Amino acid sequence: MKWRGRRQSSNIEDRRGSSGGGRSGRISFPMNLGRRGRGGRRRVGRRSAVGGFGLVAVVVVALLFGVDPSMLLTGMQEPAGDAPFTRSASRDSGSDPLRDFVAVVLADTEDVWHVLFETQLKQRYQEPKLVLFSDGVRSACGSASSAVGPFYCPGDRKVYLDLDFFRSLRERFHAPGDFAQAYVIAHEVGHHVQTLLGISQRVREVQSSVSKVQSNALSVRLELQADCFAGVWANHAERTKAILEQGDIEEALGAASAIGDDTLQRQAGGRVVPDSFTHGSSEQRQRWFRLGLKNGRLEACDTFNANSL
Ligand SMILES: [Zn+2]
Repeated sequence: MKWRGRRQSSNIEDRRGSSGGGRSGRISFPMNLGRRGRGGRRRVGRRSAVGGFGLVAVVVVALLFGVDPSMLLTGMQEPAGDAPFTRSASRDSGSDPLRDFVAVVLADTEDVWHVLFETQLKQRYQEPKLVLFSDGVRSACGSASSAVGPFYCPGDRKVYLDLDFFRSLRERFHAPGDFAQAYVIAHEVGHHVQTLLGISQRVREVQSSVSKVQSNALSVRLELQADCFAGVWANHAERTKAILEQGDIEEALGAASAIGDDTLQRQAGGRVVPDSFTHGSSEQRQRWFRLGLKNGRLEACDTFNANSL
């Protein structure tokens, strides 16, 4: 990805070097829009979504880019220590190319989503913050250790990212490349867009009254939509700024594939259990990213009314 020398977002909150502990906060959401979810009855505690597989699953779930951090976080241990939140100023004055890269990608998402909101939705886009942390962090959705992987918290409208995750992506998940990383950020920003549009809230409401299997199915649609939004972003970023280099799209697809539920379950040494998917299979994740990328329009990302995913 061509990113050097371009605008960096000012919405980066650098909390590296400080760890967050603390309690969960209430989450409040904007309302409007909303799609019909599937009906059903029984509510099953969210925690049980993490439960079944035990520790392995926590680690696996951790690496999925949770859309609903409260689901993940309630299951997570509190990060050790109780250090106050300090916003570490640019930690050392040396260069920090990875941070700069993240700031450029975030700026790209801002530029693209501002235009898309205006032209396709006739709304104003509100930019999210992106919190860089190490080890542990406190969000309005609760405390999280780095093990949860990148996540978006609707309660404070912030994306949380431990840059070490990119190393895992490269080394553990064999998904190297800067555009794999850009895809991760764009996916999380996709959850922010879903929050602004009221989609996340609507899904959560429906999830509270359906079975676990149905709830998981809705999570999958939400996650695949975030993948599709990441593709829409890439489409417009390329069209307006020509950011792509040879191999970039393959890098993003590699990451989408590496973190598919089936691949992760297989890697964790278990059976592949589609009913327990919360993010979609590798193939689905690639497919929806590609769809957004090709089409460039938000309507292309209607995973909730798609017959097949
Ligand atoms: Zn996600």
